[in-house]
Amino acid sequence: MCIFCKIISGDIPSKKVYEDEDVLAILDISQATLGHTLVLPKKHYDNLLTIDNGVYLKVMEKAKMLAEKIVPNLGAKGANILNNCNEVAGQSVMHFHVHILPRYDKEELKIEFKDHSKDYNLDDILNKIKQ
Ligand code: AMP
Ligand code: ZN
Repeated sequence: MCIFCKIISGDIPSKKVYEDEDVLAILDISQATLGHTLVLPKKHYDNLLTIDNGVYLKVMEKAKMLAEKIVPNLGAKGANILNNCNEVAGQSVMHFHVHILPRYDKEELKIEFKDHSKDYNLDDILNKIKQ
């Protein structure tokens, strides 16, 4: 059984931020930023590519609701709401989850987009995506 399924079943303790029939939100053990929260479906889905659409929408709705509370209550100035999909993208727990990372300053966390536009042809990319 995966570690988040063990948290959902109560076999592993967690700090619960929110819980309903379908969704659980817990404090991330790493606290990459203060208030770092994970929002996950109670039913196991490996990742974004396999999660049921209805369940995904429920998780995202609760992530937004929690961000609306977490950001002002912790005195953050904003947040990154993100999902890592598969190991190549940094996913280490293969149970779909959304990170809420409250942000206090620009230097505490680096998510860097480099400009590779010269390396690629946008029309080629579009054709591949749409085929
Ligand atoms: P990801 O790398 O996107 O799969 O994120 C997995 C997250 O789960 C990491 O940020 C970990 O710090 C967090 N994590 C792992 N084990 C636990 C746990 N027992 N309780 C809370 N968070 C955890
Ligand atoms: Zn699981």
